[in-house]
Amino acid sequence: MPDPDSRGRFGPYGGRFVPETLMSPLQDLEEAWTECRADPAFAKELDRYLKDYAGRPTPLYLAGNLSRRVGGRARVYLKREDLAHTGAHKINNTIGQALLARRMGKGRLIAETGAGQHGVATATVAALFGMRCAIYMGREDMRRQALNVYRMRLLGAEVVPVLAGSRTLKDAISEAMRDWVTTVRDTHNVRGSVLGAHPYPAMVRDFQSVIGREARRQILEAEGRLPDALVACVGGGSNSIGLFSAFLQDETVRMIGVEAGGAGIEPGKHAARFAGGSVGVLQGTRTFLLQDAGGNILPTASIAAGLDYAAVGPEHACLRDSGRAAYTHASDEEALRAFHVLAELEGIIPALESAHAVACVLRDGPAGGLGDLILLNLSGRGDKDVRQVAVREGTEVEGL
Ligand SMILES: *Cc1c(COP(=O)(O)O)cnc(C)c1O
Repeated sequence: MPDPDSRGRFGPYGGRFVPETLMSPLQDLEEAWTECRADPAFAKELDRYLKDYAGRPTPLYLAGNLSRRVGGRARVYLKREDLAHTGAHKINNTIGQALLARRMGKGRLIAETGAGQHGVATATVAALFGMRCAIYMGREDMRRQALNVYRMRLLGAEVVPVLAGSRTLKDAISEAMRDWVTTVRDTHNVRGSVLGAHPYPAMVRDFQSVIGREARRQILEAEGRLPDALVACVGGGSNSIGLFSAFLQDETVRMIGVEAGGAGIEPGKHAARFAGGSVGVLQGTRTFLLQDAGGNILPTASIAAGLDYAAVGPEHACLRDSGRAAYTHASDEEALRAFHVLAELEGIIPALESAHAVACVLRDGPAGGLGDLILLNLSGRGDKDVRQVAVREGTEVEGL
């Protein structure tokens, strides 16, 4: 995996655009991470928790019924991150960061969360390692995701309502930063995706790269060759970069990231940064953003809360410039259709985020240039989304 340069840049993207007070905590974190990633004892400890606690390796499953639906000679494999503990890939990263924090002698974790998935994954590892935990969450998001708020509290975390701004994820990120500035001696700030100031984008990628390492080995074992295409949904971009990272040198393997097309590519109606965005700086990093001509961050929208964010990870911007990866989007409607198709054909209810990747494979398939052998990252399970789907489709469910 190519690392960013010494200033944390992936080409013209990334970097460390933060106030002076955060420079030294980020440098300390970079140093600790550089040390740990070279330490076999750290790798061994991480592997043990990934295996015995998170349930890795996750299976690579040949989805026969889905393959027939896609048509042609398609063989579609699903990397089953939905089977990891807590139901998504996020646990890979929070276990890694918690172990790192413990190595640094820190006894408290803080995190921001939007839909609550990263908050739950952080609260989970805080319980596991006996660390104190505070999760910052916009008041509006808390209302929409009440069940995840309760989950975090069950796990022993304090959930702190954020009343500033739009009371959603970006305000929660700022609040967690403010906490960290004053508590950094004892506190680690657990970022949930490949976003933010250096070293977070590279560090979170490294923790998620286990997805790609396993998948590469598993597909070679099953098919005796590399896949024609990798397909993954892109919110901040951590599950996709985790998968892509193991195949970057394999030039025959196409990589496709799927962003949230929402209700259409018009300002405020989607979260497809590469379709409707431009370069700017947000929350510590230079990357593709959804902003207006004056540099104000635009509102975003997606049926999938985990894809609903104004910025994309800087390494993705670099991969897109070089042409090594390509980015497309799926609309809310396409994702909803794919959600039902996977449930009915394979008995797997996908997260609405992951349904965007399924939608891309259903729409494009071999005829659309994906080739015959397709590896789709199923980033999470859809239990969290069934209520939202029922409400949106006007399906009456007693007791819901
Ligand atoms: C959070 C989340 C995502 C989006 O985050 P990435 O960093 O882009 O992976 C995708 N799928 C699921 C299930 C999630 O919980």
